[in-house]
Amino acid sequence: MNGVATAHPTDAAEKKAAFELRKLDKRLHRQVGQAIADFNMIGPGDKVMVCLSGGKDSYALLDVLLALRRRAPVAFDIVAVNLDQKQPGFPEHVLPDYLRSREVPFHIEAQDTYSIVKRLVPEGKTMCSLCSRLRRGILYRVADELGATRIALGHHRDDMLQTFFLNMFFGGRLKSMPPKLVSDDGRHIVIRPLAYVAEADLERWAAHRQFPIIPCSLCGSQLNLQRVQIGRMLRDWERRFPGRIDNMFHALGHVVPSHLLDRNLYPFAALQATGVADAHGDKAFDDADDACGTPPAASPVIALRLDEPEAPGG
Ligand code: SF4
Repeated sequence: MNGVATAHPTDAAEKKAAFELRKLDKRLHRQVGQAIADFNMIGPGDKVMVCLSGGKDSYALLDVLLALRRRAPVAFDIVAVNLDQKQPGFPEHVLPDYLRSREVPFHIEAQDTYSIVKRLVPEGKTMCSLCSRLRRGILYRVADELGATRIALGHHRDDMLQTFFLNMFFGGRLKSMPPKLVSDDGRHIVIRPLAYVAEADLERWAAHRQFPIIPCSLCGSQLNLQRVQIGRMLRDWERRFPGRIDNMFHALGHVVPSHLLDRNLYPFAALQATGVADAHGDKAFDDADDACGTPPAASPVIALRLDEPEAPGG
């Protein structure tokens, strides 16, 4: 006996779990607050229509926005909206019960898009594209009716990266999901406040907060297999090279048009030698590639990111 009391293993595990949850809580709120600030997503007097599907992401979005609103320096309103698409087995009471319990103003829009999509899309084909288009039109109309100035969607960092790779692999474009955009009818501002948040964090938050999740398979549509495969690819990379997802996401916000090939983004044809040295100019012959087998030096920004993997947008 050395007289030193040892902590009970269960106590230690509980303390560690509580500590991790506090970190997660802070990280989520910090990242959402940062995305809102970086892209000027919400201003004084805005009415934010939070689109709730019943999935973990939109529940977390609403949850974090409600918490941020309590201490935000600007006053804004929140209204939750769910589109009940009449999929068989959709539990109609779940969202209203939850929203009442949180005292959130809400609107449930019932529109049988399920039947329309079933009728128009041939058996075995994916229904998501038509379904999303119908849903989008309805949500824009509802936003008008509710006087909403912002439409908030629950897409997160991993959705954005997956979309980036989908567009690159199958569409031949460097294009992701914007954190903020003008809707295609030109009348609304759509925002994605979870832009900096990792999906794994949303999963943990949903479990912790015990959101009453509604399964997303009710429509019977097959998942987009290409998106699933890209999601697997990203997770596999992250497992083998921790920090890679953060670095890739960071890259989406640090584009160098002069080092790509888009002639609409950079005036290659008009380039002239200026005769003026630029200390921060091109390093065309140094670290642009590792043709001699030497890996390029990490830039200070990337080095910082590797040290601080929790702040993808910072
Ligand atoms: S999974 Fe079902 S509900 Fe979701 S977009 Fe696709 S068809 Fe629509």
